[in-house]
Amino acid sequence: MVRFSFQVIKNQETPNIVCSFDNIRYIFNLPDGFQRFTKDNQVKINQGPRIFFTRLSTQTTTGCFGYLSTLLAQNCGVNTKIYGPKGLYIMKQEVLKHYLIRCKNLMETAYWEQKIQSQQKNYCSRTIEHIIDPKESNDASIYMKNSTLFKDQNIQIQAIEINDTIQYVISSFPQPGNYNKDKLQQFKVPANKMQDLSKNGKVILEDGQIVTIEQVKEPDIIPQVAIILDIGNEEQMQKLMGHIEFKKTLEQFQAKQVNLVAVFHLSHQIQEEYYIDFIKKYSYFNHIFCNYYKESDDKICQTHMKIQPLSELLSNFLHKQYPFNFPHIECLKLRPIPIDFKDVNQIFGYIPLFEYLILPTKQQGYKPVQNFSPKIMSEMFTNIQFKNYQQQFQQKGIDHIRLIFLGTCSMKPGQLRNVSGIILVNEKLKSNIILDCGEGTFKQISDENIVLDNKPLIIWISHAHSDHHLGLLQIVHNLCKCHNEIYLIVPAIVVPWLMFFKEILGEQCNWKIIVSQQFDQDFKEDINQLIKDCFHQCRIRQGELVQIQDNQNFIKNYEDLISCLKDQFELDSIKVTPVEHCPQSYGVRLNLCDGRSLSYSGDTRPCDRFIKLSQNVDILIHESTFTDDLQENALQNMHSTISEAVKVGMLADAKVITLTHYSQRYSRQIEINQENLENDRIIFCCDHFGGYLNEYSKLSQMSKEIIQLFNE
Ligand SMILES: [Zn+2]
Ligand SMILES: [Zn+2]
Ligand SMILES: [Zn+2]
Repeated sequence: MVRFSFQVIKNQETPNIVCSFDNIRYIFNLPDGFQRFTKDNQVKINQGPRIFFTRLSTQTTTGCFGYLSTLLAQNCGVNTKIYGPKGLYIMKQEVLKHYLIRCKNLMETAYWEQKIQSQQKNYCSRTIEHIIDPKESNDASIYMKNSTLFKDQNIQIQAIEINDTIQYVISSFPQPGNYNKDKLQQFKVPANKMQDLSKNGKVILEDGQIVTIEQVKEPDIIPQVAIILDIGNEEQMQKLMGHIEFKKTLEQFQAKQVNLVAVFHLSHQIQEEYYIDFIKKYSYFNHIFCNYYKESDDKICQTHMKIQPLSELLSNFLHKQYPFNFPHIECLKLRPIPIDFKDVNQIFGYIPLFEYLILPTKQQGYKPVQNFSPKIMSEMFTNIQFKNYQQQFQQKGIDHIRLIFLGTCSMKPGQLRNVSGIILVNEKLKSNIILDCGEGTFKQISDENIVLDNKPLIIWISHAHSDHHLGLLQIVHNLCKCHNEIYLIVPAIVVPWLMFFKEILGEQCNWKIIVSQQFDQDFKEDINQLIKDCFHQCRIRQGELVQIQDNQNFIKNYEDLISCLKDQFELDSIKVTPVEHCPQSYGVRLNLCDGRSLSYSGDTRPCDRFIKLSQNVDILIHESTFTDDLQENALQNMHSTISEAVKVGMLADAKVITLTHYSQRYSRQIEINQENLENDRIIFCCDHFGGYLNEYSKLSQMSKEIIQLFNE
């Protein structure tokens, strides 16, 4: 039986919607953190998804870069197709292609570069089409005769272009009706004649009577339609109501040629008069407001509203044991649907893990997703016992600088671990320093109840791999209306990507970009020339789309930061050194004014320069991608094993050695050998693990117990 459904995923300002038709996924918008949300929302993403954007904005697209790299890495990317408004083609040509090449691991060896480039070429040329304006792209015309209509064996999707936004009308094709059991009995059709009946359309029974298929079958099911609306203002709403395709859909509905089942609203403006009018006018449809919740007496709805992602439940569980080292993460809070709609029937709010089932029609409706029980989730942690007595750490008042690990895994986000992210919060000066921020870091920061708005901020990016910097897009976007000084310290090779991002997604960024090389005392070349070379390396046509300089005065930005280091960040100095990973990979050391210090390796093989940089540091943070048995993998991928990382810390005489950036294969727990277990200087970090700097020397045992929690 055909299964056709829509699931709303609301973890970001703009929700995204995953439409499933049997095993094919049609994804509408890809916000930051998408890969992680799919796991928490029980969405299985199969090979070759079709991706549709309602808009090209930071909110709707940033999740796609990490997601595409994952598909590519798993060789699942080939049938991926992307559709969206005008501008998508440029995004493909000038950003995605170059971006994906850069974010792939191991690019420095010639063999891989060649292999990846041919894979890439294949991938990119088949990946992206766009619905609007096919003249810009030669690819699109191959697939689509009509530039605003997508069609495959399952469904057809009509694009309604309004300004730079696209509304989508998704409809199934007519489905053959099922046999009616009562009628079959009434006409006495035996089971062994069924095949004949299906094949020939009629059958002659033993008594000579002829039964036709029409007599015993339900009528065919007319196309079932859902609409996804992303309306941002009154003008767009007016254009929608007057749009020929929208009118056509309504006419077909009135003529009973199609059944318009549900309208999904991505808008935040439903309290506006024009929106209320629209809903009231079409009150006979089912409306789902993706950003709001609807109060309900229904027990199932109530339980589902309280569902939290597993990672949040884990943090809350740990918070109970160690209230000062783990945050309590609140349930998603949404605004209630405004009173004005109370009289209109068939209004739904967002409910986690609910889906709108369209086919089979007998089960049509808004209901919990298949095979999911909230009970199992809540019982996950009840059997876990801490060996040690409950220990609590609180030193508030003694220190005011907190070090928090936001993400501790490598490559791609997992359910319990996000990709790299570390934050240093200065509670006295109200400033923040972020060391690497992979996709989804913004949500991790919000979960910590850390507010970045209107506070001085440094974001330091270690190297060009996407799991270390994709999240900065969302962070910068969320701060674009604030009065922040954002100092972005990135390797020169990342600068072209940032500028294209800014140009194409139309961000008003108030960042000041500084190039990591400016902090490297051994780097003596001209910075502007270096940036030019990086643009050239990316084979991006210079000057055609963006000014290379983007009015960024790297020298002045550097001087601005140096002049406020003490007053705004309590930093005496920032020191960096190249490490051994991919081109332009850096490690960093932060020296605080009070004499304390910490260093962070980024991704690297054990490296003398980093040992030298980290001499006598208080807290050394080192990547430890693999356990010792996978030494070979560490060598191949330019990463470190746990023992190698510990050795670096010992050689540097670090007081505390904290480990992070674990491979995906240790998604639940990591085994620790006896020697490391007994070494009280080692801390194994997990997501949301945090404490004041002067606490860290006491957190070793507790961290090891947590990292082995799931050890059965
Ligand atoms: Zn990494
Ligand atoms: Zn890396
Ligand atoms: Zn913005």
